[in-house]
Amino acid sequence: MRSKADVTQSPNVAAVIVCAGRGERSGLAYNKIFYHIGKKTVLETVLDNVFLSCIKRAVVVAAGSDISVARELCAAYPAVTVCEGGATRFESVFNGLNAVGNCDIVVIHDGARPFAAPQLFDSAVTSALDHGSGIAAVPTVDTIKRVDDEKITQSIKREGLYNIQTPQAFKYSDILKAYNAVKNDQTVTDDSEVYARAGFVPVVVQGSYDNKKLTTPRDFTGGNDNGRVGVGFDVHRLVSGRKLILGGVQIPYEKGLDGHSDADVLTHAIMDAMLSAAGLPDIGVLFPDSDPSLLGISSLVLLDNVKQRVEDADYKIVNISAVVMAQAPKLAPHIQHIRQSLADRLCVNSADINVSATTTELLGIIGNGDGIAASASCILEGAC
Ligand code: MG
Repeated sequence: MRSKADVTQSPNVAAVIVCAGRGERSGLAYNKIFYHIGKKTVLETVLDNVFLSCIKRAVVVAAGSDISVARELCAAYPAVTVCEGGATRFESVFNGLNAVGNCDIVVIHDGARPFAAPQLFDSAVTSALDHGSGIAAVPTVDTIKRVDDEKITQSIKREGLYNIQTPQAFKYSDILKAYNAVKNDQTVTDDSEVYARAGFVPVVVQGSYDNKKLTTPRDFTGGNDNGRVGVGFDVHRLVSGRKLILGGVQIPYEKGLDGHSDADVLTHAIMDAMLSAAGLPDIGVLFPDSDPSLLGISSLVLLDNVKQRVEDADYKIVNISAVVMAQAPKLAPHIQHIRQSLADRLCVNSADINVSATTTELLGIIGNGDGIAASASCILEGAC
């Protein structure tokens, strides 16, 4: 893994970007390379990273049905040509290798790995210049077992095991020779195996755990697996002659919260947190207090509406955490009831809805008893 070669000394380096898979597991109605991460598609993100490295030109291998869209997208990259893939990954890479033409080093990369950094391409190329190949890989972190018929039959020592990624860089003449020698063997799963079967020794370089291959629907919730967070805040005035409703639960008290609806400040903060996480408009927009049909409405009915909107956007709740700020009454005896009320309404486990209560030590509009405030955070993940 030593880096002796200087990639700035202008070796002729080209890339083959393999995008010809159908990507059926993604749940998208189109090829995942056209999915947008922010303003750019997955394919554009890959190409931008490729051209921030020492790679000079690239061939994008696309399925026949995607060729025209791929060409349109790649028109902005003068050093990119598009060629048609084959029925298997092996055939697609082989087509790409022939299309890219003679070069010193060729870097083969999955089009569905947009998080491979330019430095990783450079590192793979450097290894290929030094040792003939550079295969991105990371040490396996999970415990590995052999399972037969649902029974664990062997524990495999993790030491020395690696997860193999792309980019994979090779001396062009060697990998082309390997592809010609191995022919279209369906059992090979990556280019380093083709290379090894032809008698070469693949050398690994340090990959990255962030260098994820986008595969399942959950991979397409913002381009990562970390979920989406939202926050919400609300405050209502305490007045005589109103019921005090928090999380859909009526709390015995001499005053209640004033508002157009039932003024359930906690449910309002939670709704805004959910909507914010899903990237949707807030409750002031969705349920304006100028709407006479909402006069006196239970906020739990509005929560049903918000739940449906979040589900329609293909998200589900991971957890909600909220705090109610009130000088009085004491809320501790009611917290479990409130959590269960909200969990029942949102069809989640009460362990996933946490509510705490605090005073503000007699300070400000909460402390002097003029109002009650609530703040909430929500994490959503892609529903799959
Ligand atoms: Mg409100």
